[in-house]
Amino acid sequence: MLKRIAFHWQIALGLLLGILLGYFFKDHLIYISWMGTIFLRALKMVIIPILITSIMSGIINIGDPRGLGKIGLKTMAFYLFSSLFAIVTGLFMVNIIKPGVGADLGFVEPVAGLAEAGTNFGNTLTNMIPENIFTAMSENQMLSVILFSVVAGIFTTSLDQQYSKVISSAVNAGFELMMKITRFIILFTPFGVMALIAEVVANNMSQSGELFSVFQRLGLYMITVIAALSIHAFITLPLVIRFLGKINPFQHFKSVSTALITAFSTSSSSATLPLTLRSIQERGGVSNKVSSFVLPLGATINMDGTALYECVAAIFIAQAYGIELSIAQQVLIVFTALLASIGAAGIPMAGLVMISVVLSAVGLPLEGVGLIIAVDRILDMFRTSVNVWSDTCGTALIASSEGEELNASIKNNKVVV
Ligand code: ASP
Repeated sequence: MLKRIAFHWQIALGLLLGILLGYFFKDHLIYISWMGTIFLRALKMVIIPILITSIMSGIINIGDPRGLGKIGLKTMAFYLFSSLFAIVTGLFMVNIIKPGVGADLGFVEPVAGLAEAGTNFGNTLTNMIPENIFTAMSENQMLSVILFSVVAGIFTTSLDQQYSKVISSAVNAGFELMMKITRFIILFTPFGVMALIAEVVANNMSQSGELFSVFQRLGLYMITVIAALSIHAFITLPLVIRFLGKINPFQHFKSVSTALITAFSTSSSSATLPLTLRSIQERGGVSNKVSSFVLPLGATINMDGTALYECVAAIFIAQAYGIELSIAQQVLIVFTALLASIGAAGIPMAGLVMISVVLSAVGLPLEGVGLIIAVDRILDMFRTSVNVWSDTCGTALIASSEGEELNASIKNNKVVV
């Protein structure tokens, strides 16, 4: 029976059931919450091996350093500009809607560890070089693992052929193996999504009396964030891939929809990476060569949704405290929001902690984070989906610029499927 329903409908059904179960059976979720836990753990299990094998195989398959440099530059350019576009959209919306003006400050909750996050940020670059690659792997220090994989990939191409061949086939085989495991884990997505969503709904319901008043106070702020995210996701990015890459945005959206729903329900771009890779290769038609280099990098450093959110949140806090920001301060917010999004880990609520970086850069009160904490988990779902959507748009765009024929590419005004 399940086999006859298309997979994305199974996931949509999981989402819907999750909402209903979380709403009506919030005290009995123990019977299904294990499905979400197992699903998340299984995805996390393959992240590090996928990161290493995909980046190394991507670099080895690109081969010559000039090709790598070209793809690398295009990747960085897309990631930088798309995040800046996102931030400017947020800046525009928050200045028009002004959700913080007149906000009630009576509900500031203290948040631990913020000052520390702000000061540690400066060390990010130094810390990218792992002292011990195994520690970096076991502690999920993605940037360090990426750096190591990039270096290992580049140097593999300069080895004697007898050695480079061995490493290259081992890495490619390892990647295929990880994709096989991922394909198996993906079969459980509808159940995982159902359990994870049920839990989010139930958690928010249990504080529902309070939540209602929080929504009243923060409703405009949430609307601002979601509206700005929607403009970026449904207008800016589709226009960019349509006109720069001759890609049909609807078709592309359909190809990666499983990854987007998983991003929404897990709030983690890292945990979604295995699914994103599989969707873009098998349903999007992007080659392994491009996607296995561009996508894992994006999952870690390209976070348009988070970047936009950082900017809106910081300005909302300034408005709520009645602090007038100069143009220079707003420009500073744009750049620190960009840095914060690059530094944020692809895990739930990472963006919330990074706001302290932005706040301290412009001298806004760190306690302001307490203002927005109540609705962060919900907004996290939206911004994580936008983060993943932007990664896939960048990957498809770069693949098409490399002359690849994607499933969603527009040829002679016709969609090639
Ligand atoms: N949860 C987001 C992600 O994984 C990061 C954030 O908190 O903004 O992409």
